[in-house]
Amino acid sequence: MMAGRHYLDHNATTPISPGARAAMADAFDVVGNPSSVHGEGRAARALVDQARRLLADRFGAPVEAVTFSSGATEANNLVVGHALRRGWPVFASATEHLSVLDAGDDIAAIPVAADGVIDLAALDDSFSALDGNASGPFLACVMLANNETGVVQPLRDVAALVRARGGHLLVDAVQAVGKLDFDLPGIGADYLTVSAHKFGGPKGVGALIRASDAVPTPDAAIRGGGQERNLRAGTENVVGIAGLAGAIADLDARLAKIDEIRRLRDWFEATIGAISPAASFFGATADRLANTSCFAVGGIGAETAVIRFDLAGVAVGSGSACSSGKVAPSHVLRAMGATGEECRGAIRVSLGPDTAMADVEAAASVWRTIADPEQSNNAAAA
Ligand code: PLP
Repeated sequence: MMAGRHYLDHNATTPISPGARAAMADAFDVVGNPSSVHGEGRAARALVDQARRLLADRFGAPVEAVTFSSGATEANNLVVGHALRRGWPVFASATEHLSVLDAGDDIAAIPVAADGVIDLAALDDSFSALDGNASGPFLACVMLANNETGVVQPLRDVAALVRARGGHLLVDAVQAVGKLDFDLPGIGADYLTVSAHKFGGPKGVGALIRASDAVPTPDAAIRGGGQERNLRAGTENVVGIAGLAGAIADLDARLAKIDEIRRLRDWFEATIGAISPAASFFGATADRLANTSCFAVGGIGAETAVIRFDLAGVAVGSGSACSSGKVAPSHVLRAMGATGEECRGAIRVSLGPDTAMADVEAAASVWRTIADPEQSNNAAAA
């Protein structure tokens, strides 16, 4: 972490956890290719196998159902692309990540309410409208928790509707790992996608996890040497996969800090609300991740605010950090009925396991100078 800085953008990416760092340092010394039969190769294979087992156990899936990928974008693309190529109807909540919504051309968006929660009646109506194909395969994509607002979706209800109509459910669980305690059978997913860098692992590695072998295996994303049970060819990212496993081993320690994180987030929102009584906190009335606060105040643009935060040593996000840092109006907030001005002003503050009171205090005092420059000039002059 950069000295003297306050990092409050954990939904964009997280610092490496101690377990992930140690696992990667060890893996650097494993020289073999996992496909080689010699001892060095077998040692590398053992690391990959061990990571696969850890992931399978953590999320309640068979070990053969775990496929390592370059991250959640690839994993989401794999499943959505497979469904579209098969001609399955694909439905996705309007607040899904773009790695789902932009994975193909023919994806029906399901509306969400103003609090960001999916409209279950609209979802069910879309299934019933399937032209004489009501019991044929289709894919529904509903994330567990949203990256911008932290809103948690009622997945058990979603899964019951999907199951009743004979569809498959893809759950993007990227933002939920390390913030909610869940497993794949508990939420009723057929496909689950995760990304290591969102929970203390390295960037550029993730996984697609299927509930069982009965769930259709997507078509191979990359063809060649037949790695990952022919699903994704190419020499495995052994160090990355070891880091992912190290981060998984640290998950309980992360989850143990969630109540403290919620306390800090709630303090932060109360303080922002006191400074700016007109602030809107997106998704605040819904079930929400404990670490996330997304808010806007009329007349204050996010682009300038994020720069002001940064210059004062506080890293926060705006819009979706996944779109290469560009500040585009958020499709998530638009789907929740936010005005253009609210979308342009949306700032995302996301806390992590090591966030301390001093970090949220620093963010709140920067906000004071942004929201009321006069008051802060007076304070400086006094
Ligand atoms: N899904 C969600 C909800 C995300 O927040 C992100 C990244 O921000 C992704 C998918 C993409 O993950 P990755 O960075 O592993 O491609």
